Amino acid sequence: MIEITDVHKSFGRAHVLRGVSLTAEAGTVTVILGPSGSGKSTLLRSINHLEKVDRGTVRVDGELIGYRQNGNRLYELSERQILRQRATIGFVFQNFNLFPHLTALQNVAEAQISALRRTSSQAYEKAHELLALVDLWDRAGAYPRQLSGGQQQRVAIARALALEPKLILFDEPTSALDPELVGEVLDVLRDLAASGTTMIVVTHEIGFAREVADTVVFMDEGRIVEQGTPAEVLDNPRHERTRAFLSKVL
Ligand code: ATP
Ligand code: MG
Repeated sequence: MIEITDVHKSFGRAHVLRGVSLTAEAGTVTVILGPSGSGKSTLLRSINHLEKVDRGTVRVDGELIGYRQNGNRLYELSERQILRQRATIGFVFQNFNLFPHLTALQNVAEAQISALRRTSSQAYEKAHELLALVDLWDRAGAYPRQLSGGQQQRVAIARALALEPKLILFDEPTSALDPELVGEVLDVLRDLAASGTTMIVVTHEIGFAREVADTVVFMDEGRIVEQGTPAEVLDNPRHERTRAFLSKVL
């Protein structure tokens, strides 16, 4: 379970997250929608402490992220402890972020060896399994530049899964793809959702949200304006700003 409580974040004078609270149960899919600049990426990055929030807390399965608590004071964890926590939270980016000098297989195997201390043979066996899961068993030896965007993103998803994370954060996983490649990535996300992976997905793919999300969250200007089931938020939005946004993306 993920519990985000009253998170605030500013960059200089820009107050980008203005008291965001959100909970997501294990095994659920939360889709975050909102206009450009509303704070969606900053919120995702705050969940795994890539951004250090100014106020508020994030807990994953009860564990405070980025800090330890002593009485009512919070102390930031060491870099090593933060990296260890971050390994339990998968992150899939818009631009894939694969290591260009490693093959697909090596990309999926590498972090297992460094972060989970798996042996090389365990890591490569798992990497083969995961490439098969994302339907890329035959491209294991390819380098990222030899793969299409959709294939690269599927490798990135396999890499995130390799660490057996408690949850996976997706930041616009299909928005850098040519339209004909979007479907193959959404298919993988659909399969993950069906298998009970806890996911928070920032996306403008409304059809995907309608079909797969348990909760849809609409953000604007650093706040959650409304949240609910897809039927509530997408089909019967209560707020004018949600309606205005949906009328542009639908
Ligand atoms: P998009 O849909 O365009 O990806 P977003 O909802 O993900 O937008 P964020 O990337 O979270 O928005 O950015 C929210 C605001 O915070 C923007 O005004 C952005 O310019 C600002 N911002 C984000 N990161 C930084 C940073 N590292 N330094 C300064 N300002 C930042
Ligand atoms: Mg963003």
